[in-house]
Amino acid sequence: MRATTIHAAGDIRVEEVPDPTITKPTDAIVKVTAGCICGSDLWPYRGFNDITPGDTIGHECVGVVEEVGSEVTDFKPGDFVIVPFDHCDNTCAHCRNGMQSGCVNPGFTASGRAEYALVTRANGSLGQDRRHAGQGAAAVAAGAV
Ligand SMILES: [Zn+2]
Repeated sequence: MRATTIHAAGDIRVEEVPDPTITKPTDAIVKVTAGCICGSDLWPYRGFNDITPGDTIGHECVGVVEEVGSEVTDFKPGDFVIVPFDHCDNTCAHCRNGMQSGCVNPGFTASGRAEYALVTRANGSLGQDRRHAGQGAAAVAAGAV
């Protein structure tokens, strides 16, 4: 897939990288329709954070669920979703008490500014526009979202 990558401070490129794959039953792959730039993307861009040359960047986006792992029950291919930068399981004590940012099973969006993003805890992390539930691809194609 084509993805936005970083090679050094100020050196952003669009390159071919391997497509993300489902490796855990809680994973989902989202076809990105719009990627976002988060303030935390700017730290490595400005040279304040360590960089692994060639890493994908971008960790917030919206898109359509392409594929889900066997334990993802709340989302299915075709759903239009909002992808946050950090992931939570929504089942641990912290999550059940409304402190998802303290989740004991955190994850992080990979390749949010690429053709496909990987979400590691789909049930607890993805948000859905309920107005277009189950009609993601059609709604996007029709320009409704
Ligand atoms: Zn949790």
